[in-house]
Amino acid sequence: MTTLRFTGRTAVVTGAAQGIGAATARLLAEQGAAVAVVDLTEERAEGTAAEIRAKGGKATAYGCDVTDQDAVEAVFARIAEELGGIHILVNNAGITRDNLFFRMPKDDWDAVLTVNLTSVFNCSQAAQKYMSQQRYGKIVSLSSRSALGNRGQANYAAAKAGIQGFTATLAIELGRFDINVNAVAPGYIATAMTAATAQRVGASAEEHQRLAAERTPLGRVGRPEDVANVVAFLASDEAAYVSGQTLYVNGGAR
Ligand code: NAD
Repeated sequence: MTTLRFTGRTAVVTGAAQGIGAATARLLAEQGAAVAVVDLTEERAEGTAAEIRAKGGKATAYGCDVTDQDAVEAVFARIAEELGGIHILVNNAGITRDNLFFRMPKDDWDAVLTVNLTSVFNCSQAAQKYMSQQRYGKIVSLSSRSALGNRGQANYAAAKAGIQGFTATLAIELGRFDINVNAVAPGYIATAMTAATAQRVGASAEEHQRLAAERTPLGRVGRPEDVANVVAFLASDEAAYVSGQTLYVNGGAR
């Protein structure tokens, strides 16, 4: 039986057209949330939203580039108005632009920092206005195991480590408004993002996943649902006394 632990809550999930964001949007909706499915365009977001509605859930698609602060403010105002407040924010939109540091173009540094980290500032700042008024809020952001260092990902590692410091600080500042702020740090999750990494190193998605599984104590790569389950826990009242944490979801890898 599905637990309806998010009934009456509005959840915003960024980058929810596919991958981890889509799995998270589906799970939060299954458990009763009205979900704002946000991605670069409304058309991209509509795929996930339509799928949720077809299964009887509540979801609306919104197009928004989360790097654009004005656009974020405007879309969050629309979401709060149309879906009824903002209770849960999942900062999931992200990109990679991998390269060894000595040949990493500055543009790729800027793009990765802006999409993965500045967007988290934009969305969290927009959301906290509603959350602090409600005296209720859950912010969960996607960090990564790469925050600990990963060859070819100086930009991505910096952004994902930044999310951990940002999360710890927001937890201190927003705790008094009953807002919990946490992060998850996935290891290798089979999505379009890891398929693109495989392609870049000249491997098939299957071969790349097999090698990653071999390095993982649990003997397999992660699925988007493995991450969605942990995000949902951190967004739930079961995690009411957890804040400022980064939880690694990586099959036991060090
Ligand atoms: P993905 O590439 O499959 O999906 C990312 C989504 O974000 C896409 O739908 C894309 O359109 C959207 N997006 C990108 N830029 C955006 C912008 N400016 N505004 C709005 N939407 C935007 O990625 P995924 O693998 O599902 O990863 C989701 C999150 O989890 C990312 O933050 C990623 O860094 C993180 N993560 C992924 C893995 C993994 O192994 N897949 C591991 C650790 C962390």
